[in-house]
Amino acid sequence: MPKILGIIGGGQLGMMLVEAAKSMPEHISKVIVLDPTENCPAAIAGAEQIVADFKDKNAIVELSLQSDIITYEIESGNSEVLESLKAPVSVNPSPATLRIIQDKFMQKTFLKENGIAVPDFLPIESLDDLKRKVGSFGYPILLKARRDAYDGRGNFKIENEGQIESAFRLFEGKHMMIEKWVDFKMEVSVIAARNTNDEIATYPVVENIHSENILETTIAPARIDSKIANDAEDIAKKTMEVLHGAGAFGIEMFVTHGNQVLINEIAPRVHNSGHHTLQSSDTSQFEQHLRAILGLPLGSTRLKHYAVMRNILGPKNFAGRYKPITIENQKGVYLKMYNKNEAKPQRKLGHINVIDVDDTRDIDALIDKAEKIRDSIKFEPLH
Ligand code: ATP
Ligand code: MG
Repeated sequence: MPKILGIIGGGQLGMMLVEAAKSMPEHISKVIVLDPTENCPAAIAGAEQIVADFKDKNAIVELSLQSDIITYEIESGNSEVLESLKAPVSVNPSPATLRIIQDKFMQKTFLKENGIAVPDFLPIESLDDLKRKVGSFGYPILLKARRDAYDGRGNFKIENEGQIESAFRLFEGKHMMIEKWVDFKMEVSVIAARNTNDEIATYPVVENIHSENILETTIAPARIDSKIANDAEDIAKKTMEVLHGAGAFGIEMFVTHGNQVLINEIAPRVHNSGHHTLQSSDTSQFEQHLRAILGLPLGSTRLKHYAVMRNILGPKNFAGRYKPITIENQKGVYLKMYNKNEAKPQRKLGHINVIDVDDTRDIDALIDKAEKIRDSIKFEPLH
């Protein structure tokens, strides 16, 4: 019997999950999303929608009554309410795992206790505590809000003593931690999945380039030697073994100059750095996530072709409705816009996948092509 899937969050990740679900009608008959924005991207893609806050208890319970399986595309869901939901509805990844991951300090403690390397970190209880502990790592250090951070908005880099107090004030009232600054040579990530039968699969490690804390470009595969790539994939597998629950996870890592691989953070959901899989891989991360939570055998994670994904962010000098975005038709180039009518500076509005369909393996040329296509896109107001 096909299942009804409930998703907490109906942004672009939910939208692409809905699209994947539509290609599996024998397994999923309907998708319902819970999202506060009316006509959210996932609803435009065909999901039914409950309009409510992600943490709204009544709305989550309502979603659970209408669904056979619940999953999420954001990590800020209400793990307590999710934990309290009763059978027959199942929630994956498990709410207990969500609870650990939601708090960066708990997450890093959990990883460290399981023998998985992370940057050095300490909890911060007060301004005095911060002043005392700041010296333990040497400048710069990162002050991080432990919860509800995204796109680097919960991070502040403290470069000297003079910045300690203002950094603390920025997150005052929130739980905080500090982290040693990692002078990494590359940021990489692995999309890993585990199904309800504990089968685990990892995608090849990819390289991520950020700009102003937001992912800009993903390069698949990462330009690192095979030894480091194997280490990263092994770390991802080990992480999946210790985390409970099924689903696709995005595991962000740093590669240090000494070739050590450290986990930066885990996203308990499909991840921006996995968007290339839509065309580059045997199985997209979205289908993989659905296979994982439905208890189906996981799909092949083989990279069919090298690929570069370039995010399309809202331009800095423009906000509001914009004319439809189009690009010239080219072999191996895929534009995906996210059904978001309103542009805002730095808002994720779409992405471009450039797939190496001719197998040139010329990554510089792929990056260059993606960059040129991005530059050709102009946002114009819609009157
Ligand atoms: P996201 O951008 O994935 O939504 P976020 O807001 O939760 O995540 P982090 O992933 O913690 O933030 O950090 C954002 C970026 O800041 C990282 O991708 C990395 O470039 C940089 N960063 C984070 N922690 C460190 C560190 N300890 N040392 C150096 N750079 C770091
Ligand atoms: Mg991150």
